[in-house]
Amino acid sequence: MARKFKPGLEQAKALDRSDPLAKHRRAFLIPRQGSRPVSYLCGHSLGLMPRRARHELEQELARWCERGVEGHFDGGRGWLDYHQRFSRPLADLLGARPEEVVAMNSLTVNLHLMLVSFFKPEGRRRKLLIERDAFPSDRYAVQSQLGFHGLDVAKNLLEFGPVDDSARLSLAAFEALLATEGERIALVLLPGVQFLTGQRLDLAAYTELAHRYGCRVGFDLAHAVGNVPLELHQAGPDFAVWCSYKYLNGGPGAVAGCFVHARWAEASDLPRFAGWWGHEPSTRFAMPQDFVPISGAQGWQLSNPAIFSLAPLAAALKVFDAAGMRALRRKSERLTGYLEFLLEHELGDAVRLLTPREPRERGCQISIRFARSTAWQSLATELRSRAVVADWRPPDVLRLAPVPLYNRFEDVYRAVRALRDSLER
Ligand SMILES: *Cc1c(COP(=O)(O)O)cnc(C)c1O
Repeated sequence: MARKFKPGLEQAKALDRSDPLAKHRRAFLIPRQGSRPVSYLCGHSLGLMPRRARHELEQELARWCERGVEGHFDGGRGWLDYHQRFSRPLADLLGARPEEVVAMNSLTVNLHLMLVSFFKPEGRRRKLLIERDAFPSDRYAVQSQLGFHGLDVAKNLLEFGPVDDSARLSLAAFEALLATEGERIALVLLPGVQFLTGQRLDLAAYTELAHRYGCRVGFDLAHAVGNVPLELHQAGPDFAVWCSYKYLNGGPGAVAGCFVHARWAEASDLPRFAGWWGHEPSTRFAMPQDFVPISGAQGWQLSNPAIFSLAPLAAALKVFDAAGMRALRRKSERLTGYLEFLLEHELGDAVRLLTPREPRERGCQISIRFARSTAWQSLATELRSRAVVADWRPPDVLRLAPVPLYNRFEDVYRAVRALRDSLER
């Protein structure tokens, strides 16, 4: 960021006035405290509600109310093909082909489905590699999959973590690990953006290395989708999964997503757990005995989709469409740079950044660790009383995410001031 930032509310307001994306904030409902909107820097946990979500949901409730079972058809706008309308906007956000993505289930369910298909321990190649600080659900999923294959977790779960005290995952360390273990690894599962540190990985580089050693590769994009630009098809992993309630703003428990690379589109011999919604639609309702998967990611669907958990996502994806990921990324880099600047300026040595300083290596999240041991619970209460919503990972990590779709520079300013005032108390 060539542009120099300055402390003070005046500059924050000036930056908001000249922000070409500022208008999209109006597409969201911002929680309030008294008469003022809170500084909501928690889009990494639950994105805010798009104003149109209510309309999209009410439309489907009305269809149910007025049409009953016939709501499935409704002249092509009904529930039968409802999930199809997500293919194009999701493909845009993920840099995928429409047939490579599908909106279905929840993240952990999709991860299990993908592990069933892509973790195939055989011969000497039986290990599954994850990052040491993996999100607990991902760890539980892979541990239980190893158990499902009758494999000893202690011997076959390989962990990849930071090699120094920088908290950073490094491609060089990954390569070194593959050089010794690569031929024994069946599957590599990595994050797109690490949930705790906010580090963004180079998906293409990690994929290329793992494939060079003959491993299959999957990514958990929970903190990447809607946050950083993605080029999944080109990067080439075998699969990816994500949830829709963080940066995608699809609402609590929103229907999640799954990517299966085009190279697997016709691989009907891949092991998979099947259900009727993954069956060819032309014969699905003839209820044949044998399963014929839809080509591409949709072939992994199990059940008819949860329409009421998809409808708000339709509203959310329209805002992404209107704003455009490239413009969002430009604003995101400035907004996050501004947060970084203010943290250093206002808090100095009291905090240490866990997140990489290089914009290319992060999304919109900055995680900080407190230098002095901090009574985090009272600090959390202080912050909240000052109308700041952020996320604590006890004992000493605070995660702040200024989201370019709805956060203002003023939100960032107020959050850092509140943090300083809280620390001083
Ligand atoms: C948020 C998150 C999840 C959540 O999983 P659900 O199945 O949606 O409850 C899983 N993994 C990661 C890395 C996450 O950040």
